[in-house]
Amino acid sequence: MKQIQFVYQGEKSFAEELRKICRWQRSNLCSTVFFQIFTEVPDREIIGHICDTVARTLPEALYAGCSAFGSILYGDFSGESIVISCTFFEYPTTKLEVLQYPLAAPSLAETAAQVVREVEKRPWVKGVEMLATIRGMSMTALCDGLSALREGVQVFGGGALNNALEAEDTFVFSSAGGCSRNGIVFVLMGGEDLFLETSYITGWKPLGSYLDVTAADGYILKELNHRPAYETYDKYLHIPNDGDFFVNTLEFPFFYHHNGIDIMRAPISSNADGSLVMTSDMDQDVKARIAYGDPWTILDETIEEGNRLMKFTPDCIFVFSCAGRRTFWGDREVGKETESYQAAAPTSGFYTSGEFLRTGKYLNLHNVTQVLAALREGAVREHEPRELALPARDFRGRVSIINRMATFVKTATEELEELNRQLARMAVTDGLTGLYNRTEIQRRITEAVDEEKRDGLWLIMLDLDYFKKINDRFGHKTGDEVLRKTSAVLQDSAGVLPGGAVGRWGGEEFMMLLPSGTGAQVLELAEGIRKRISELKFEDPCAVTASLGAVRARQGERADKVCVRADEALYEAKSGGRNRVVFRES
Ligand code: GH3
Ligand code: MG
Ligand code: MG
Repeated sequence: MKQIQFVYQGEKSFAEELRKICRWQRSNLCSTVFFQIFTEVPDREIIGHICDTVARTLPEALYAGCSAFGSILYGDFSGESIVISCTFFEYPTTKLEVLQYPLAAPSLAETAAQVVREVEKRPWVKGVEMLATIRGMSMTALCDGLSALREGVQVFGGGALNNALEAEDTFVFSSAGGCSRNGIVFVLMGGEDLFLETSYITGWKPLGSYLDVTAADGYILKELNHRPAYETYDKYLHIPNDGDFFVNTLEFPFFYHHNGIDIMRAPISSNADGSLVMTSDMDQDVKARIAYGDPWTILDETIEEGNRLMKFTPDCIFVFSCAGRRTFWGDREVGKETESYQAAAPTSGFYTSGEFLRTGKYLNLHNVTQVLAALREGAVREHEPRELALPARDFRGRVSIINRMATFVKTATEELEELNRQLARMAVTDGLTGLYNRTEIQRRITEAVDEEKRDGLWLIMLDLDYFKKINDRFGHKTGDEVLRKTSAVLQDSAGVLPGGAVGRWGGEEFMMLLPSGTGAQVLELAEGIRKRISELKFEDPCAVTASLGAVRARQGERADKVCVRADEALYEAKSGGRNRVVFRES
């Protein structure tokens, strides 16, 4: 495989370029010529002209392209309106075929099913590139449908855009169809000697706290933390709910777990009711966080990826990189995140409105992500092992400040989260003994009893005998030591039966919840606790015993009632002479 890339500079020079390609093709082994054309200006006339010229000069050649938010030329941001890559496939076994369909929301599943059938008919297909006009439309049905593709077929690609981000005017085109405002192009590629490797990188970091997706319906994200989803963007980022919402939120996607991978999902637009239209479905009852780019992480990931690609020894690399990445870096520095691939092979691509990548079985639509497809004909080439060096990190201006702010927010968030975890722990714990406090053990008992999990549920209540005397004779310090050692015995014993929990009910009273276990097990456990407490040793020569009441919850009995019966059983143990267990199985 060979590839050349060039800038479109008018009809005359393009015709000349094509003649050169023609001559080269005739004098070399070449099975297929494939052009990719990406245009920042949505000028159908020029594109029509380019397509006609290719068709006339190289009638056998295939081409595909779309309008884009800029393009990548030899691994760098091109800054040019129209960029063309021409790939020569050299192996006779290599096959390419282009398909084009109209793209409309009601028929997405049907289109996907058709492509699945087409691929089924062609056992040689190993990879499918997709270019689609996805702006303003949910791609869920398409992605779900294409997840049915034969196992191992790699799928990658991107959504068309326009040099004006907010503009809806986007199009795709190919040798299989004309310029289409609502269209999708599939480039099927494969054959015995063609090898593909796909991957993705983000480098975006989750910022701020976790948000619960409390209401979502398909690709409509309705509520976060029980509030209209839009309010999150207003609260944390002051982004107004207006026509520029897509552009303003592009660099701030949600970071969330979907189909087994971490994915970023950006809103397409916001509705008057504060719900957000997403590019693809959001699951309900998951946690999402807003994410932002971290320049160092991004560069580290591109180097790692570049080194991985080196080992694959690709002939060329296609990049589908989100428009939000270009606005994030700025035009002067965005090339930094693709230049490392160029060290492995000629790298071309465009800035997209969404990135397709199949991971395992699922085809996902990503946002703010860089999807890569590396192609090679023939076996891995022998080469000197070479490690890519980190690109210069002399971030200036905007990106440098972003870098520091992102690090600051991330560190501060981690500290706050740790503090939150500590506070949450403290709120349920008894300070002296480390057991659950009364509120927490009571909550757990109520939850366990009232949630119909009461079959085989037990409570054991324990009170130390003549504890007042221990305090009086040896002092509070020793009293506290007795409480702590007793608690350790209880904590240890609660772990014997699955789901067991224990809390401090009052001064020297404790309550154990056992959601499982037979009568014999519970009796043995209670007797064991009693015995172990009586054998405890302390710094002072004090002997400690405890009385216990163990009861089994009755069918339909309320939690407070079970607690009262446990207390009654305990009282019986006290009046029966202390240092004993009263056990009530019914
Ligand atoms: P009985 O066998 O009838 O249960 O007798 P008792 O002395 O254990 O009963 P009582 O309820 O009269 O005494 C409980 C004592 O526990 C009174 C109180 O001073 C002591 N106490 C409560 N909380 C703490 C604590 O945190 N530390 C210490 N050292 N003592 C405590
Ligand atoms: Mg007592
Ligand atoms: Mg007491």
